[in-house]
Amino acid sequence: MLRRICVFCGSNGGVRPVYEEAARGLGQLLAERRIGIVYGGAKVGLMGLVADAALAAGGEVTGIIPRMLVEREIAHPGLTSLEVVETMTERKLRMADLADGFISLPGALGTLDELFEVATWAQLGLQPKPNGLLNIAGYYDALLEFLDHAAGEHFLRPQHRKLILASPDAGQLLAQMESFRMPAESEWFSYSRP
Ligand code: AMP
Repeated sequence: MLRRICVFCGSNGGVRPVYEEAARGLGQLLAERRIGIVYGGAKVGLMGLVADAALAAGGEVTGIIPRMLVEREIAHPGLTSLEVVETMTERKLRMADLADGFISLPGALGTLDELFEVATWAQLGLQPKPNGLLNIAGYYDALLEFLDHAAGEHFLRPQHRKLILASPDAGQLLAQMESFRMPAESEWFSYSRP
């Protein structure tokens, strides 16, 4: 049951309008589904657009922002609630604790850091929550191909490759996330060669 989703996304808006449209679309869809949002708490980039769209549609949005970023990323003043924490690590832990799943929109180093951190927690069995990429306009195609390559080269176990869900459509991604089940622990370390 997805009651609250953590959204990771870029602090920039991207060059093509489609990224901003998708960010607004996701915020609105989550609000319409009565799924709360937890995110980095900023007003900048796609982050601010997701929050604004959700709030405009009556959604609940919680921001978690480290003190050092309150001015740099302009903490969003109109959120349902905003928590100021001391470190980036504390922020990530708090966002993950509050959420039932994670969605990454297009972004760069910060977004990838967050996406892979929660994926590695899942891989280690530290959190069982679904982790999805909203693959707008093929933005993450190269990353998904790389993950397939890592699995093909036996650096990433096939069952761990499945921990990162992806879809170009927010509704379909939510459906995948709702039916996601963490592989049983016994399957985790069985590695079969082709
Ligand atoms: P980016 O995807 O690089 O635009 O970053 C998106 C947001 O992720 C940043 O604005 C930060 O709030 C956040 N973030 C989380 N972890 C990191 C990190 N290790 N480096 C940079 N940004 C980070």
